Amino acid sequence: MSARIIDGKKWAGVVHEEARARVAELVKRFRAPGLGVILVGDNPASRIYVSNKEKACEAVGIRSVEVTMPATVTTEDVLAEVRKLNADPAIDGILVQLPLPDQVDEERVLLAVSPEKDVDGFHPENVGLLSIGKPRFVSCTPAGILDLLDREGVELKGKRAVVVGRSNIVGKPVAMLLLARHATVTICHSRTELLQVVCHSADILVAAVGKAEMVRGSWVKPGATVIDVGINRIDRGEGQKAKLVGDVCFEEAAGHAGLITPVPGGVGPMTIAMLLKNTLLSAERKG
Ligand code: NDP
Repeated sequence: MSARIIDGKKWAGVVHEEARARVAELVKRFRAPGLGVILVGDNPASRIYVSNKEKACEAVGIRSVEVTMPATVTTEDVLAEVRKLNADPAIDGILVQLPLPDQVDEERVLLAVSPEKDVDGFHPENVGLLSIGKPRFVSCTPAGILDLLDREGVELKGKRAVVVGRSNIVGKPVAMLLLARHATVTICHSRTELLQVVCHSADILVAAVGKAEMVRGSWVKPGATVIDVGINRIDRGEGQKAKLVGDVCFEEAAGHAGLITPVPGGVGPMTIAMLLKNTLLSAERKG
């Protein structure tokens, strides 16, 4: 069997187009949505992520406001900027680019973001709302995964879903979303026994582990839908560009799965698309 590949880039493009149309509508009756982005320090990867997010905002008509701070700031300095954005009526979403420098208390900063503007869905109030089935903002990667499954017409009700990974930003929220859609969900982690056997029972298998190609083809039930969240950089030696691979061994798994996301070009593009969607939703709630 050879799996059909889920084209995350294509679907993210569709989400961008839908967002652009809705932003245009909102501008007519209210104003453009606004996203405040706090970037602390000079981590090159963070700089690239922020710039990609800002470009995506601009392309659909969302106004982004960047607050750049030096790596030497204190927690109080960052909190002061978060409070300014909380109080700004033209800002609908706030994103604090992680990681923050060691001396900054990340938890305090994330807690200070108004839950009404928490477009990353990291605030405990939004995590709680998701777990009681009344989501306000769902974190972007899990929301993107559900969006992909829906757009591909994958049936979730009554199906067995296995999520490998229990992080607060991917594993747990994606499990909550699948549960809310009536899948029977198992969450696995580093202490799970017989992991391969559990994975092999999955109609929908989500791998969010951070271990290159850990999930092998023999772990995949024939015809299953495989969602690979992992982004792992494999160094290929001097002068060679690092290769990006997922948490699933794509070549093997594609021989067993019915549907599969590639890395890159699967889940990744949907994450930014969902950030746009969350910011737009936040503005639409007001306008
Ligand atoms: P974390 O490191 O926070 O969590 C990893 C999880 O995997 C933990 O729950 C851990 O278990 C579990 N785990 C680790 N080793 C094993 C193992 N051998 N067997 C079973 N479970 C294991 O990672 P994240 O959730 O933040 O990210 C996961 C991956 O997804 C990473 O590659 C990351 O780069 C990528 N990612 C991609 C995004 C995208 O936009 N595409 C966005 C966010 C993340 P335990 O809890 O027991 O330690």
